Amino acid sequence: MNPVFSALPTTIFEEMSGRARASGAINLGQGFPDSQGPEDVRQAAADAVLSGWNQYPPMRGIPDLRTAIASHYAAHQGLDLDGESETLVTSGATEALAASILGLVTPGDEVILIQPAYDAYAPLVRQAGGVPRFVTTHPPDWSITSEMLEAVVSEKTRFIILNSPINPTATMLSDDELALLADFCAAHDLIAICDEVWEHIVFDGRQHRSLTTMPGMRERTVKIGSAGKIFSLTGWKVGWVIAAEPLANAIAKAHQFLTFTTPPNLQVAVAYGLGKDREYFTEMRATYQASRDRLADALTAGGYAVLPSQATYFLSVDLTRSGIAMGDRDFALRLVEEAGVAVIPISPFFETDPVTNIVRLCFAKSDDVLDAAAEKLAGARNLFG
Ligand code: PMP
Ligand code: GLN
Repeated sequence: MNPVFSALPTTIFEEMSGRARASGAINLGQGFPDSQGPEDVRQAAADAVLSGWNQYPPMRGIPDLRTAIASHYAAHQGLDLDGESETLVTSGATEALAASILGLVTPGDEVILIQPAYDAYAPLVRQAGGVPRFVTTHPPDWSITSEMLEAVVSEKTRFIILNSPINPTATMLSDDELALLADFCAAHDLIAICDEVWEHIVFDGRQHRSLTTMPGMRERTVKIGSAGKIFSLTGWKVGWVIAAEPLANAIAKAHQFLTFTTPPNLQVAVAYGLGKDREYFTEMRATYQASRDRLADALTAGGYAVLPSQATYFLSVDLTRSGIAMGDRDFALRLVEEAGVAVIPISPFFETDPVTNIVRLCFAKSDDVLDAAAEKLAGARNLFG
């Protein structure tokens, strides 16, 4: 068996969802909304299943979706993309990450990862023969400095994998961090693989900015997105890669042997969805922001120290500052059994020097579910000191 994968545990998301199912707990662990997603987008998919094309679509994605991706980013992020040569549709951001890493990283390349790091990055780098080099950030700001980057870079470093907005910290890279990352990539001739799946779920009037917009970065950035996040349809697994033509071509070569294509009817619906009015996106953010505030207020009232959530549909509780002297994993395991609420410990997002006193909660749930979870958490507060 291939030790890159066989030595890994089942993901923390699957583990905690499994425990929630087994014990009937409220699941604020794995990140998925409990809503159905926009009806018009689902209707577009249903129509396309019944009266559209159900055979293999083009390997790089249906033309309508590739054009819609380019127009969407022009309208929302001021990008000037050529849909034909600079976009590639994938089966979720997960496949976009796999195709990018397997298509670009060659054996012996060093790849910088920022901890906490989404769980898919390091195994994919290793499978490509690359060597992960970890930079560790710390709460409450989780900020990156040039000293941290310079400490891990070598002449073998070819890539940096970035995630902004960041899962699990619910923070975003600041303009200063983007500037220093652009300088760093240029100085060391690196390609940045930027996982931006949370780009639309940003709060308090914030605006997502992609590293690809920084001077000199257009030719050396791979930007990854996901319809699952934009339309609260996580099971659809429609994602994409945006990259300059030579990078996009290499990534497409890996994509053709990973999945080759993505269901055409879902692509039709996502193309429709990306063209929705600005109001849809504004309202989606406002709804999530209200849920964030509802859960944060209730947890604070219940005696938990909540860290600020700038983006994503997650917020974090700082156990130490809540007066709870337990590790995140022990806390999460006891919480699911004794309080009936599943959360995600964040230490599994680290391979080295883990931060062990933070748990992540998903607030993409109805008010009733959030209130019930917060009540259980408040009721269980004294179990933990
Ligand atoms: N990257 C990050 C940072 C994510 O949070 C997720 C999903 N939660 C993904 C990638 C995977 O996205 P998809 O479901 O589109 O494969
Ligand atoms: N990305 C989702 C999360 O952070 C989970 C995705 C998965 O289960 N692989 O909760």
